[in-house]
Amino acid sequence: MPETIFSRILRREIPADIVFEDEHVLAFRDLHPQAPVHVLFIPKQPIATLNDATPAQAELLGRLLLAAAAYAKAQGFAEDGYRVLMNCNRDGGQTVFHIHLHLLAGRPLTWPPG
Ligand code: 5GP
Repeated sequence: MPETIFSRILRREIPADIVFEDEHVLAFRDLHPQAPVHVLFIPKQPIATLNDATPAQAELLGRLLLAAAAYAKAQGFAEDGYRVLMNCNRDGGQTVFHIHLHLLAGRPLTWPPG
């Protein structure tokens, strides 16, 4: 898998506003936030796209979701609500090929997305 900007954030080679970290997951604020809260949850183990995830990585994928929910609860916006999403490849709008869960909150989010 080619190197991405997120690998460099993981290695602390470039700065990021990190809001959560555990053994498996790193979370940091998006550089170009699309909502008052816009945090990216990434696995420390790089996976290029959701298409590349394997059943052996099911627990890791679940950890991204649970970390996002825990963050929403800890920050006090879980009850108001939030959105989590993962873009995949060109039509999904993926630009960084190290999977990441977007957590968006802090304003009413419209549906359908663009
Ligand atoms: P994608 O379009 O792949 O789903 O999302 C990539 C996200 O990464 C975008 O929302 C973009 O703003 C964010 N991003 C790209 N480069 C950087 C960076 O260097 N630092 C941070 N914090 N976010 C980045």
